[in-house]
Order: sequence, then C-alpha cells, then structure tokens
Amino acid sequence: MDVHSMVNIYRDELLQRLGKLVSINSVEGTPEADAPFGKGPKEALQAALAMCEKDGFKTVNLDNYAGYAEIGEGEQVIGIVGHLDVVPAFKEDGWNTDPYVMTEKDGVLYGRGVSDDKGAVVASMIAMKVIKDMGIPLTKRIRLIMGTNEETGSKCLAHYVEKEGSCDYGFTPDGDFPGVHGEKGMVGAVYRSKKTGIRNIKGGTARNIVCRNCTIEVDRCSFSRKKLEDFFHNNDLEYVITDKENTIEISVQGVAAHASLPHLGVNAISYLFAGLKEAGFQDPFCDFYCSHFGLYTDGTGVGAKCSDEYGELTLNNGVIGMKDGVIEGSIDIRYPVTYNTKKIIKMMEKHLEDDGGIIEIKGGHEPLFFAPDSPLVESLLEAYQEVTGDMETQPMVIGGGTYAKGIDNTIAFGCAFPNKDYHIHDANEFVEIRELLLQAEIYVAAIQKLLNL
Ligand SMILES: [Zn+2]
Repeated sequence: MDVHSMVNIYRDELLQRLGKLVSINSVEGTPEADAPFGKGPKEALQAALAMCEKDGFKTVNLDNYAGYAEIGEGEQVIGIVGHLDVVPAFKEDGWNTDPYVMTEKDGVLYGRGVSDDKGAVVASMIAMKVIKDMGIPLTKRIRLIMGTNEETGSKCLAHYVEKEGSCDYGFTPDGDFPGVHGEKGMVGAVYRSKKTGIRNIKGGTARNIVCRNCTIEVDRCSFSRKKLEDFFHNNDLEYVITDKENTIEISVQGVAAHASLPHLGVNAISYLFAGLKEAGFQDPFCDFYCSHFGLYTDGTGVGAKCSDEYGELTLNNGVIGMKDGVIEGSIDIRYPVTYNTKKIIKMMEKHLEDDGGIIEIKGGHEPLFFAPDSPLVESLLEAYQEVTGDMETQPMVIGGGTYAKGIDNTIAFGCAFPNKDYHIHDANEFVEIRELLLQAEIYVAAIQKLLNL
C-alpha cells in the first residue's frame, strides 16, 4: 500500500482528534499550580498526550509546559515541534461558526486552531502512526514535541530545551511549505518625546501590528486645516476632526498589518504626523517623528535601511500614547538574516536623538539562517516536492519568528501551502481536510529523509 492510502485510513481518526483539541479553549490563562499557562493549554496538552499514548507511543509530560510522544530508538532525535495553544477567538469578531466547535462545510474545517497549529499537530500524529505501520527500521528517535505557549512567549519550548536539549534534525509545522530557511532578526525599541506642544495622543494595539487608528489632540490654529484635509484626501484616508474648547481632536484610520510586512498596512500614526507637518504644524516631536520614521517602513530615518539577497529590513510603529506630558511609542524592527543585532544597533547609533525626541533600544534577537543547500533544507524540500510535484516554490525567508529560533537544527516546514491564506489569528480560520491529509503525507516523507541523514 502506498503512503497516500495509508494516511487516508486515518481520515476519521484525524477529524475526531482535531475536533477534540479545537473544543478545548487553549488561550493562555491565569497560571495555577501545575498549569503554568492556565487551565486550557494544560488540558489541550493532556488530551494530545492521551491520544499518542493510545497509539502506543512513549509519552512524557514536562510539567505541563510541553510534552512529547516518541517512537524509534537511537542516539539522535528527529523533532517535529508543534503547539497546542491558540490566540483568542470571539464569535462577534466575524466568525460564521463557533470558533471552539470544529465545523465542516464541503470538505473545509473551520475553528480556532484547525490550521495554527492543532491541525498540524494532529497531521504529525498521523504521520508517526503511518511511519510505525510501515515497519521501517527506526534508527533515530522520532519525537512529536508539543508546546503550550507558542503564541505568548514560547516559554514552553525554553522549558523543553532546558530539560531535554535540542534535536539533531527537526521541523516545526507552524510556518510555510516548502520550508523557511531564514527568519529575520529583531530589534525592539521605544521612543519618547522631549519637547512637545501636543496635548494628547493615542494609537495602536500592539508593537507587532501596524497602527490602524490614531487620535491626537493639538491646539486650535496650530496648522492649516485645509492642508491637513487635502493631505488625508490625497492619501485616501478616513478621518474625523472634532472641535473642542481650545483644541482640535483629529482621528485617522489606517490599515493594520503584521509588523513583518509593514508596507502592506497604512500606519495611522505616521500619516497623522506627516499630514500635520505638511499642514504647517510646528512641533519638535512632530519633526522628530517625521525625520526618524515618517512614512518609511524600511528604517531609512534611523540609518538602518539595509538588505541582503534574502530581503530587506522593516520597521513598524505599533503603539503610541502619552503620560505626564511625555509621548511614548514602540517600534519593531526586523532585519535581514545575514546581519546581526550589534551591526544594526551600530548603524542606528547616530540617529537616535534630536531636540524633539529620543529612541531607546530595548534589545534584540539574532536571526535564524540555514543556507538553501544545507542538508536539512534540501531534505525537507525534496520531501515536499516528491509528494506534491510542485517544483516551482522555493524555501523562503520570513520576518516573523517561529519555534525554530528556540531549538537547534530546526526550520519551519508547513503547515501552510503556497499562496494560501488560512485566516490564522483571524475570524473563520480554516483548513481543507484534503490538505491535512496531504500534510501528513509530506511529514511521512520528511521523516524518512531525515532518518537517512
Ligand atoms: Zn502557530
């Protein structure tokens, strides 16, 4: 029997398991004794480990931070690293179904986590069952590692590595096919106003999201209202201007996007300041903002613009606020995979301060990089190509971070197929049943390749 047929035997089992895991709301909750990330993540981990135990795999629960299921023998460990926690989902955010009840419509499954990452974890379980059924000699240990805190800090994986060490070869099915051979480095920073006449400002929800809405309060007659409105019209921006007693409140609507792809969004903070400056608003902080960030999303204003053959640096302004007369905001920088944090900070050194404001670097994370022709990247690519026949799509570099940064010898591989948007972290997250089975088939091929390395 071929692998395709062997995987399909477990179709119903796969659906039943995924339905069970989706029904457990595993958003991070209040820590309790024996539940470091709250009840939900712990319950999801215990349920998943019970499934693997039923399969006859060796299972280990590492203090409800993470757990693993293992088959095979030998010195080396092939790790498949997935996560069981999810980001919040609320019916009123536009879901057509209950996010915690997996629902099938025409071969498509809907529910929080069906794609990211519970679906991938269940597909990996099926892959291990098939590997076992095949009866091939397992000279390495194959370990499905399941974490419960990927979405909110990956403390689960840090705990795993502390207890068990890294793996010899691994992949995390929490990114894209046919593999992610590089993940950009990150630098985080905050900026603060020194002198400003701005009365109040508030915008954004998170550092890693392009600010969608920003509201500012400034003195009346401090700029040309006509010029400001022209600027907003010319840039197709929705806005509201409200007259107050001695001040004017201006609210601008932009477009949110992930911080790693800031050019896909419209930053409300940046357009607000750019518009005010164009309208003749004279303020040291407004000048500071426009010269250091402006409408650039590539770090030009802070001296950090750079790129390599795998991509360019991105900079996002996520959140801004004001307290005790001081404006404070946060920025998220993702830099090319062949650079390092030290080099980026050095480039920014002379661009951190002027009369209107100051930027303070908060620290960084080094990038992850495997050469496209490294054995790990090539093996996984071959597995994908052999199963799907897609010889066009190549391994990629992303601006986001995955588990791969937290465990050695691992890259993201799956679970998203090329050019598809599964609405992860969004309403109506979905996955096709056909794709879950195909994932399992690819993981079987991948494990076989890694067994032979
Ligand atoms: Zn994920």
